[in-house]
Amino acid sequence: MEDKKLERILDLVEHVEEKEPRRQKKEKPNLKESIYSLRLDELQEWLKENGEKPFRAAQIFEWLYEKRVKTFEEMSNLSKGLREKLNENFALTTLSTIISQESKDGTIKFLFQLQDGYSIETVLMRHDYGNSVCVTTQVGCRIGCTFCASTLGGLKRHLLAGEIVEQVVKVQQALDEVDQRVSHVVIMGIGEPFDNYDSMMNFLKVINHEKGLNIGARHITVSTSGIIPKIYQFADEQLQINFALSLHAPNQELRQQLMPIAKAYKLDKLMEAIRYYTDKTGRRVSFEYGLFGGENDSVEHAEELSKLIKGIKCHVNLIPVNYVPERNYVRTPRNQIFAFEKVLKKNGINVTIRREHGSDIDAACGQLRAKERAQETR
Ligand code: SF4
Repeated sequence: MEDKKLERILDLVEHVEEKEPRRQKKEKPNLKESIYSLRLDELQEWLKENGEKPFRAAQIFEWLYEKRVKTFEEMSNLSKGLREKLNENFALTTLSTIISQESKDGTIKFLFQLQDGYSIETVLMRHDYGNSVCVTTQVGCRIGCTFCASTLGGLKRHLLAGEIVEQVVKVQQALDEVDQRVSHVVIMGIGEPFDNYDSMMNFLKVINHEKGLNIGARHITVSTSGIIPKIYQFADEQLQINFALSLHAPNQELRQQLMPIAKAYKLDKLMEAIRYYTDKTGRRVSFEYGLFGGENDSVEHAEELSKLIKGIKCHVNLIPVNYVPERNYVRTPRNQIFAFEKVLKKNGINVTIRREHGSDIDAACGQLRAKERAQETR
């Protein structure tokens, strides 16, 4: 029922008809399921069903996430028969690196090709507190935020959990070369993670598991544009994962201009869901607020925002947005950014301005132009 409602509501959101993938499909794509899609308990189950001992699952996880092998053949403490079974049933590599580019500040952008020919981006950001990977959850996006280039071609497909996990594994393999570790993960790349909820949850469970990538829950952040039923569901999971909402406007009218999803999920109901989340989990929420020159960045807007989020355990992340060619959004002048921040501070709200490294800056669910991403997220 909930899924039907979600589908119907999301259909209200403007999106362009699906097109062929830009890159030519491989002639004979290997469409085996990614081994990275499986949680430890699912792998144990699979082993049992296939006449193998369930304890082998922990050994396989060790090969995948600790030793980070690139072929099943390398899993030398497994029998040849089991390695063959794994090879017949699963793919160990579903992403191939098309290109990786490193910027001056150490940010590395990876362009990966999927088995069916689509390509996705993943970004490694270097911070003083560690290495953070920003993952993509969908090929394209159907949410339709007006400031986001990723939605212009609509949604092509959801990523499978394994395809999201493998993004982190691939980045970790690159970091292995310099003896460094992925310490943080942000689910803020292309796509709306709550529109691909089950895969996102499996991804979280695998990367957080001590036998998986063992990335602490408090080092993982998920961001949504505001799909209300999924916010309730996520709250009920009672995880310690950081949660961010792309808010971007202090009232319904302005929010639905910037983010058509707000027509389906009204701001008052959204704030109710956010209060439910903070009450249920005891955790704070991060409000992402992109400052678009002349649109949502006045001191009156800051006062309105303060009232909207009053009493909510939260933090506001102000994101000064540079020129957005699709909509002619312009940058908020520096003094106005500080004036906006000052109002929030005066009203007792915990606020930061996102530090910028490059000439471009992203907004959205922290997701605008992941390919240009080059800044701190917190
Ligand atoms: S900002 Fe995020 S949710 Fe909005 S259209 Fe872009 S990718 Fe989708």
